[in-house]
Amino acid sequence: MNLRFTTNILRLMTYNLRLLLVLVFIAGCTKSQTSFTSDEIETINKYPQQKMRVLLYDDKTDSLFLRQQTKEFSDEDLQSDIFKNLKAQMLLTVLDTANTGVGIAAPQVGISRRLIAVQRFDKPDEPFEFYANAYIVYFSDEKRIGAEGCLSIPNRRGNVERSETIVVKYIDTESLKPCADTVSGFSAVIFQHEIDHLDGVLYIDKLYPDA
Ligand SMILES: [Zn+2]
Repeated sequence: MNLRFTTNILRLMTYNLRLLLVLVFIAGCTKSQTSFTSDEIETINKYPQQKMRVLLYDDKTDSLFLRQQTKEFSDEDLQSDIFKNLKAQMLLTVLDTANTGVGIAAPQVGISRRLIAVQRFDKPDEPFEFYANAYIVYFSDEKRIGAEGCLSIPNRRGNVERSETIVVKYIDTESLKPCADTVSGFSAVIFQHEIDHLDGVLYIDKLYPDA
């Protein structure tokens, strides 16, 4: 083996090592972009542009999942394709003609995150809107009692006392800016029901005694 050959081999090895380090760095950056777990990504990818399985209160494993405290999204999460897919699939799930709802929370489709969709009956055309990292920061003393049902508790309804007006704080999923909205009436009831889901609370925990 001559000296020139050895030098060339060493140069090649150094180049390959540099290339490897650059690739490892790029892979590291891509991986740290979102906080979605591999389980969450698997659950979302299981239903590509389809309705998702709704977790049921009567199933023991589902029930324990529904009782968990959910986690917030990062800005990177909100900008990701996996988040967009989750929103699209939650919408298909709540619009399912076999079991249509007026709202849905991410834990109901097996994703323990602070995300809800609410049908805004207080807006023209009554659109479904998504609210990420949503919290209610004001509950009016004025209450209303009304019957509620839940996609996770089929074929049951019960009366619940809710505030007539609430203020909801959330992150706008397009602008990523913190927002607040004052909501009254039936839409306010849906917000209270769905945001309860994010804290592991179900409407059956709050049943109002029948008169
Ligand atoms: Zn529900």
